[in-house]
Amino acid sequence: MSFDRSLARCSFCGRHTSEVRRMIAGPGAAYICDECLQICNDILHDPTPFSTQALELASRPPVVIAAPQALGLERPAHSAEPTRSITLEIEQKQQGMTLILHQLHYFEDYFELHYLWIRPPLMAGFSFVPRIIFFLKDNTGAQWTGERGGMLLARPELASGPNNAVYQGNARFKPLPNREARVLTIRAADPLGQFEETPPQPWHYDVHLTV
Ligand SMILES: [Zn+2]
Repeated sequence: MSFDRSLARCSFCGRHTSEVRRMIAGPGAAYICDECLQICNDILHDPTPFSTQALELASRPPVVIAAPQALGLERPAHSAEPTRSITLEIEQKQQGMTLILHQLHYFEDYFELHYLWIRPPLMAGFSFVPRIIFFLKDNTGAQWTGERGGMLLARPELASGPNNAVYQGNARFKPLPNREARVLTIRAADPLGQFEETPPQPWHYDVHLTV
């Protein structure tokens, strides 16, 4: 299959050849730019298994290559201000892990759940991106599942010591709850927990939505 090299985009960040200093071609339509290569090099030299950079890289949206036209919307719009925010600050602990639901942010046609996950550090050589999966239900019967917990960032500066690691995540759900919704039931599970000798129970929260 032929590929028009003028359409080349870095497979890691989506930038075009004209936007980077160097672009290295891989097989097929795979490319990597000098800056993303530098990030990979930094990750290789970082002894921590899930550095902020490694998680950021792993959680980037997929790059669409050789699209007929520039999509123009590759980068998520983080500038949007929530139309409404609800502070939750509820935490639950189980089997050495704590999940803190921090806030709900409502936007025009979706809402986000911001959370912190405190757990023992993941072992070096661990090759999964850790995730929390969410299942939400309100009292009117509406249900949501998140984007596998959304983006997760390591926040080493929040950890209280070497025996815990803090990850910050946002999970996005669409559409917004009904106006009649009063109670939002949030269940969360660590999908890797299934490998534990005693698999953890899903976290379970009932959030009361005020009008
Ligand atoms: Zn790049």
